[in-house]
Amino acid sequence: MPDALTPPSPYIGRFAPSPSGELHFGSLIAALGSYLRARACGGRWLVRIEDIDPPREVPGAAARILNQLEQYGLLWDGEVLYQSDRHDAYRAVLGQLIARGQAYYCTCTRSRIQSLGGFYDGHCRLLHHGPENAALRLHQTAPVYGFEDGLRGWLAADARMAEEDFIIHRRDGLFAYNLAVVVDDHYQGVTEIVRGADLIEPTVRQMALYQQLGWQPPHYIHLPLAVNEHGDKLSKQNHAPPLPPGDPRPTLVAALAFLHLPVPEDWQDLSLPQLLASAVAHWQVADIMP
Ligand SMILES: [Zn+2]
Repeated sequence: MPDALTPPSPYIGRFAPSPSGELHFGSLIAALGSYLRARACGGRWLVRIEDIDPPREVPGAAARILNQLEQYGLLWDGEVLYQSDRHDAYRAVLGQLIARGQAYYCTCTRSRIQSLGGFYDGHCRLLHHGPENAALRLHQTAPVYGFEDGLRGWLAADARMAEEDFIIHRRDGLFAYNLAVVVDDHYQGVTEIVRGADLIEPTVRQMALYQQLGWQPPHYIHLPLAVNEHGDKLSKQNHAPPLPPGDPRPTLVAALAFLHLPVPEDWQDLSLPQLLASAVAHWQVADIMP
């Protein structure tokens, strides 16, 4: 039986923030967890800036995020990939899906889909709409109903979520997150994705897209989410404060403790590289509390 905790080989991991603000404690958890896992596996760790949604982006945020990663000693391999440079690749994949009859245009309104209970019913599958004022949906032929998470074990999906013909190109012309993330993770050769538990839900959709494109999906590990005093996920939307300037070590130690990873008692005597090296040496997925 394959062991979900056995890392893929070669190991290529990544951190893929969207530049809608600075990194906060919640995004540090995702960055640190994916970094430590990649380094502990002797693998590569890539950084990708997910700038596919210009209205939600904050000018200068991408550069600020990269500075914060450097401040925290989370140094990536190779060049940073920007999704804004990848439109031709996304268009090529959309064209391929359309040509194979695996995608179709949909003109249904949001209120119609709300009236169906929030999940789309495939109404436009055989209506042969053109691209004008239409979203493009994946025609689901091989839905994925669950997956083996490297930390949490088998995670079953809501069947309506798994079976929905989800949007891969939005009516407003923007590429959908699920499309861009799959095309880029495949392009970058990512073999395991370590990210926050808020992204468990779309995983089965992304895996279905891998299958329909004939690509091998990566392994997945979904880390616990940091929450605020109201129990809400730390996010830019609910004004999580940016990571503090200055010495990154106290915040890194708090992030290690949050993940239930061992913190050296003498951490105040360790340099940043020493602290990170210790964390890599003691990293165990099984220590993390989901
Ligand atoms: Zn429709």
